Amino acid sequence: MTRAQVLVVGAGPAGIAAATAAAENGCSVLLLDDNHSAGGQIWRAATVHERSSAAGKDTAKNLALDRLRQSGAQVLGGRAVFNADAVTGTVQALRESELGSVAETLPFEKLILATGARERFLPFPGWTLPGVFGAGGLQALVRGGFPVAGKRVVVAGTGPLLLAVAAHLAEDGARVASVVEQAPLARLLPFAASLWSSPAKLVQGAGYGTRLWNSPYRTGCWVTEAIPASDGRGLRAVRITDGRSSWDEPCDLLAYGYHLVPNTELAQLLGCTLRGSFVEVDATQRTSQPNVYCAGEPTGIAGLDAALVQGEIAGLACAGRPIGHLFERAARERGFGERLEKAFALRAELRSLPCEQTIVCRCEDVAFGRLRGRTGWTDTKLQTRCGMGPCQGRICGPAIEFLLGWKPVSVRQPIFPVPLQALCSHPESEALALNK
Ligand SMILES: Cc1cc2nc3c(=O)[nH]c(=O)nc-3n(C[C@H](O)[C@H](O)[C@H](O)COP(=O)(O)OP(=O)(O)OC[C@H]3O[C@@H](n4cnc5c(N)ncnc54)[C@H](O)[C@@H]3O)c2cc1C
Repeated sequence: MTRAQVLVVGAGPAGIAAATAAAENGCSVLLLDDNHSAGGQIWRAATVHERSSAAGKDTAKNLALDRLRQSGAQVLGGRAVFNADAVTGTVQALRESELGSVAETLPFEKLILATGARERFLPFPGWTLPGVFGAGGLQALVRGGFPVAGKRVVVAGTGPLLLAVAAHLAEDGARVASVVEQAPLARLLPFAASLWSSPAKLVQGAGYGTRLWNSPYRTGCWVTEAIPASDGRGLRAVRITDGRSSWDEPCDLLAYGYHLVPNTELAQLLGCTLRGSFVEVDATQRTSQPNVYCAGEPTGIAGLDAALVQGEIAGLACAGRPIGHLFERAARERGFGERLEKAFALRAELRSLPCEQTIVCRCEDVAFGRLRGRTGWTDTKLQTRCGMGPCQGRICGPAIEFLLGWKPVSVRQPIFPVPLQALCSHPESEALALNK
């Protein structure tokens, strides 16, 4: 495989902007993503006729994808990068083919990590019932054809994603019973007022408001329990509290999520320094590792515009082009991310959501009560296997960090399970096996 001058992992808005900028400025660029088409979370391709005007007629998305196509960057979908090595300057990606899964080694001169973020889920009684979905997860399913028309849906948790998802579901015919936001109104009002300096975001928010005009937006409230329907096929209701009283809201589905957590596993494997939970970068999006850049959500949760400008900076920096003209825009979007973090910070009461029997690790079926008396991650993994299943702690890790304050101990390759067959198909593994 020829060495790409710039290899970009993640074809969301940040990765698309990075690959386009680098390719337009003369670099040979390879853009990898585990999905089959470029777009990331917000511009996820619909597999059915898209009813949502927000996604279907998104001019920003169409312009970005057209520019990427014309830039000359090579896009390889269906490649899940499970390892990266700064010393050899290679990443390893898993590719599913008709003949089975294959591991490929791809060399690079410069690497841009644009791996995005995932939803944070906090466990509560009933969260594993059929009918309970991640908010972004349900949105993705609907884009894939899952029918929600006529269904009564509660959208709950925290963050602006709730409104985006609720508006999308409403447009696809769901009856959004309420949007339940844990952040108090006193924190949301100054955040909303600050949007006057970002007219595009204000227009976006107003668009959600129009589509949700008859759905209550309950601030300072959270879901404490999901109650199953008598036939066990979905939900009958969710229990909601404002901290003083509780009530049941009838619904068929619950879409929930507590903001986002960054995907930093590849950056950690490469030894990049973190700042809190995020990858530390300089003004050119360069990490602490030479030739490794990072853009978009892994550097801070700040939305689409931040991802686009950071991606462009990283791509131009890799191509050795001037970037100073983008600094002001980048600083403005960083500021938005900081205000977002403050407004939607999780309230302490959410720490008492799980009871002893509530499952925290869904992969290994570990109940919250089994973590009592454990001293940290190593002890817990040894005694309970919590965090050791197929998702490798991606779901329970951030939840337990919030509930018990345990920081993840280390990241090892492969960052997600890889079939042995694929590793054996790997040329280096074959050479290793032959040498033994
Ligand atoms: C589930 C979800 C739904 C969202 N929906 C909306 C919405 O409706 N509206 C909105 O305004 N914002 C939404 N957001 C937020 C939005 O994603 C961000 O605001 C912004 O677009 C992030 O861009 P990005 O390029 O940094 O990341 P992303 O768009 O997340 O792109 C990252 C890409 O990298 C890929 N990737 C990650 N790790 C690997 C790996 N190891 N190997 C290969 N590929 C990898 C991912 O599959 C993804 O395609 C959503 C976020 C999430 C998590």
